[in-house]
Amino acid sequence: MIEVLRTTHQFKIFRNNLPDCRVGFVPTMGNLHEGHLSLIEESLKNNDWTIISIFVNPKQFGPNEDFEKYPRTLGKDLYCIKDLLHEKGFEKMGKKISVFSPEKVSEVYPSDYSTTISTGKSLSGKLCGLSRPGHFDGVTTVVYQLFSLIKPNKVYFGQKDYQQYLIIKRMISDLNLDIQIIPMPIKRDTDGLALSSRNQFLTKEQKQKAIILPETLNKIKRTIKSHSWRKAKDYVNELIADKKKNEMWDYLEVLDSTSLKTPEEDTHTVVIAGAIKVGETRLIDNKLVELNYVR
Ligand code: AMP
Repeated sequence: MIEVLRTTHQFKIFRNNLPDCRVGFVPTMGNLHEGHLSLIEESLKNNDWTIISIFVNPKQFGPNEDFEKYPRTLGKDLYCIKDLLHEKGFEKMGKKISVFSPEKVSEVYPSDYSTTISTGKSLSGKLCGLSRPGHFDGVTTVVYQLFSLIKPNKVYFGQKDYQQYLIIKRMISDLNLDIQIIPMPIKRDTDGLALSSRNQFLTKEQKQKAIILPETLNKIKRTIKSHSWRKAKDYVNELIADKKKNEMWDYLEVLDSTSLKTPEEDTHTVVIAGAIKVGETRLIDNKLVELNYVR
């Protein structure tokens, strides 16, 4: 039986009664797929108690974004979690799992709620932060609140949302939170498209078009891997300029993977980050690659 807590009050009582054990936390907006499940599985392996939050957080959606239409599938999500527990034998190992899924937005943001957690612009003022103003403040605000309710030892974030991962890591470090953040690799469909709850909005034709995103990232990755960065830089800039002629691109950038700044002499690894709009659906993806300095 998976315990599902639907109010903050219920959750606080549950948390106060939890035995002293290793707690892993996986924050999600639900509509679980293999990407989410890989985070949950990793938490189950490495903790005694795994807590999953399922909450579509209005503060991280802009006024013209898809908050209303974002898929809410709690019943199906609980089945997916039960299947995972059963199939991988976690039940028999005595691993525990609970779900915090606030039934109303007011459980998280009561009418007099007035605090925002904001990490400043050096990480959040670029890439998705530029096209989605306020998005990352919404993310850090809800994640901080969930951290303080759940009090986890370890938290699991997908590298699919790489900028989000960096920002949460920064918040944990800046605020001296006693939490270990674990980045998890991107799970992809067989055609290379990163799994996302938004992929279901795509028609068959749109899905084919969307493949340009992982393909372009791969092409840039190959270019970087097969040249010294001094040479690769120019090829990559040309490639990016050419791709961006197609207006479906929101951004396509190669940045230092820790600072999200333009790569410099001391950059070891870059993140190739891209976002496209296919019809009404916005998709993001990225690849990490080490730079070569001698070749
Ligand atoms: P979301 O429900 O979209 O907010 O995602 C919840 C968590 O799952 C975040 O840490 C995401 O980065 C992670 N996630 C989403 N899609 C994937 C994927 N394809 N592979 C790995 N992690 C993912």
